[in-house]
Amino acid sequence: MLTNDKLDAWDRENFFHPSTHLAQHARGESPNRIVTGGSGVHIEDRDGNRFLDAFAGLYCVNVGYGRAEIADAIAEQARELAYYHAYVGHGTEASITLAKMVMERAPAHMSKVYFGLSGSDANETNIKLVWYYNNILGRPEKKKIISRWRGYHGSGLMSGSLTGLELFHRKFDLPLTQVLHTEAPYFYRRPDLSMDEAGFVAHCVAELEALIAREGADTIAAFIGEPVLGTGGIVPPPEGYWPAIQAVLDRHDILLIADEVVTGFGRLGSMFGSDHYGIRPDIMTIAKGLTSAYAPLSGSIISDKVWKVLEQGTDENGPIGHGWTYSAHPIGAAAGVANLKLLDDLNLVTNADETGAYLNESLSSALSDHAHVGEVRGEGLLAAVEFVKGKDERVFFDPSEKVGPRIAAALLERGVIARAMPQGDILGFAPPFCLTREEADEVVGKTAAAVSSVL
Ligand code: PLP
Repeated sequence: MLTNDKLDAWDRENFFHPSTHLAQHARGESPNRIVTGGSGVHIEDRDGNRFLDAFAGLYCVNVGYGRAEIADAIAEQARELAYYHAYVGHGTEASITLAKMVMERAPAHMSKVYFGLSGSDANETNIKLVWYYNNILGRPEKKKIISRWRGYHGSGLMSGSLTGLELFHRKFDLPLTQVLHTEAPYFYRRPDLSMDEAGFVAHCVAELEALIAREGADTIAAFIGEPVLGTGGIVPPPEGYWPAIQAVLDRHDILLIADEVVTGFGRLGSMFGSDHYGIRPDIMTIAKGLTSAYAPLSGSIISDKVWKVLEQGTDENGPIGHGWTYSAHPIGAAAGVANLKLLDDLNLVTNADETGAYLNESLSSALSDHAHVGEVRGEGLLAAVEFVKGKDERVFFDPSEKVGPRIAAALLERGVIARAMPQGDILGFAPPFCLTREEADEVVGKTAAAVSSVL
């Protein structure tokens, strides 16, 4: 077996890690962790450490680690047929079954699912389809896409442009010019503290209306948003936000893309965030929870309304010129089928709802009164604690103080993984859905201890 030192050296010499400070990593200034195994909500590393992963990897291992049912399905598919493409009508039993299972769970007005590999490529697909849709409808000017500041939609050219976090644009010449950003529905950081929730929703709507008026509705094709802002800070929307936004979009004939990469398949305690908030999307992005990350697979779920136009487009122009070699990859599809079955068999969406409520209440009662906790918020099995320097005046820490990362590190020392969210001093929680109340208690108790050790 290779020694840890050897692997560490090879890693720093050869491996370009995503979302990493490359120079510090190459110089050996940041630690490596070699992960070796996982079971339930826990992972293990080569140094013999065991952690409770309260972020489910990157909020994706929803059914938990070490599920033999999914591993077996993957192995069986690999043995029988590891790969065949899905072009011009080809499929496998797994990909066709998964499409059926996804559409059975999707809102009734949705029609078809296109399978990709990642949330980022699914959003690239979505925007291409939106452009195609408007070209077929004879409105080639209607192409701009509105996203929200703090939204996260991926790291591709278009998906990275849709992302409303400056770090993902910096030095990359993003966003592309077709993308516009509007106010995030982030009540805690509302621009005027005298606004109540209803007033803040009205403000978000007014900002959106003003943007549409400035650009012209006939130039705007779609609006994209996560039902709950994820990477931008885990921020559930204020009451009434989605119906109000939907009404504006309907009035201006702007398509709505619900990016359900995090919220899809149960994280909020409902099958989709769109069900949870009464959103009626034209397109939905799915990824992570589709396979619980046992294999890479994503999807774009297309509504009847959009689908009809796509069909018309191919009658007029020939086959749609869009596809990946690995679209509907049989191994990903087999993982997806086994994963969605497990979600049902173990009632994991109900558990996300019930244990999620318990986790959120416990975090709130343990931390809300802390002098440097500005807000504890969440929905289902998503939760966040936001730290502030001055609570009443809502004064934020200077980023150089690295409060979020320091608290995450203190929590890691205690054996629990939470995520220091990339924007602001926010600790995020998104555990696997099999989390028990005892494990939730451990997360909360250790978080409170970690917070007290830093602040
Ligand atoms: N959309 C949302 C809401 C996400 O949270 C993410 C990833 O975290 C993506 C899209 C991009 O997915 P991927 O990293 O699989 O490309």
